[in-house]
Amino acid sequence: MRKITSVFASLALGATLFAGAAEAQDKGYVGIAMPTKSSARWISDGGSMVEQFEAAGYTTDLQYAEDDIPNQLAQIENMITKGVNVLVIAAIDGTTLSNALENANAADIKVIAYDRLIRDSEYVDYYATFDNFKVGVQQATSLVNGLKERFPDEKPWNVELFGGSPDDNNAYFFYNGGMSVLQPLIDSGDIVVVSGQEGMDTVGTLRWDGAVAQSRMDNLLSAHYTDKQLHGVLSPYDGLSIGILSSLKGVGYGSGDLEMPIVSGQDAEVPSVKSILAGEQYSTIFKDTRELARVTVGMVDALLQGSEPEINDTETYDNGVKVVPSYLLEPMLVDASNWEEALIGSGYYTEDQVK
Ligand code: BGC
Repeated sequence: MRKITSVFASLALGATLFAGAAEAQDKGYVGIAMPTKSSARWISDGGSMVEQFEAAGYTTDLQYAEDDIPNQLAQIENMITKGVNVLVIAAIDGTTLSNALENANAADIKVIAYDRLIRDSEYVDYYATFDNFKVGVQQATSLVNGLKERFPDEKPWNVELFGGSPDDNNAYFFYNGGMSVLQPLIDSGDIVVVSGQEGMDTVGTLRWDGAVAQSRMDNLLSAHYTDKQLHGVLSPYDGLSIGILSSLKGVGYGSGDLEMPIVSGQDAEVPSVKSILAGEQYSTIFKDTRELARVTVGMVDALLQGSEPEINDTETYDNGVKVVPSYLLEPMLVDASNWEEALIGSGYYTEDQVK
């Protein structure tokens, strides 16, 4: 009998200890909805968030929707049903979540828009992102610097424009930021968009699909550049840049005396860093996803612990219903001159990963 009692006692003690440990680890449950694993940046975002949320005492549910809108909606509804306290969402289509967020609000769940603004809903509490307009400014500034460096005597420069996915609010900020630099040069005649294709409704690339960009580049080259040289391409994302570069290589750019046009990018993805090292892609924009995760974890922590999340912008991001209070991180231009310090020095990649 004594033995049995002590077994019970130690079981009870164990249970108490276990409950104690669980409690210390139980600050809340966070649902993280990411768009796709097809681009490495979102894998880093998800990984960094899980790591940092767990270190801060939260439980997480991380889901990727492979760029399928109904899939992402189902994942979010499922998180609501499972009783998360907060949703962190990088939307595939920022305009399709209004109903889901109404349900979240009815269940008293807070919502953070992650990297991409969620539009047409009042139930977006905060937005954590990079300065997206500045991303576009940096891309176009680098493009112009590259044109001056590689084609100093060939003005006017022939340039083509690519935009991101029209259902992603960021795509407009990148494009508008880029055009704030390029439009004055187009107006002065220093840059010519030979195809005449301008504006997000014409140059957008649905779902940021590299294959779509590659075939648009193929078409532009055969329609407008059989007797002209292309000097530069404004590309908003590395996945598009890689497609554009293979189209260019396909018709002989980058070999013989046909110099590779200047091609911009974004996200510092490994294939693009390798391409920059090989002298093909000209530049990319590094957005440290570890930092974006840190800002997001801080926001969630403040929200759930009842304090004010840190923000640094209350004007820029009007989602159609309200201006969402935001924290904007600084993007960084990376090219052949600073990749090592920016990407290896910061510990984002190891040398082996990019060589
Ligand atoms: C992100 C970019 C990314 C793009 C494609 C945008 O919303 O801000 O970093 O290149 O989506 O995934």
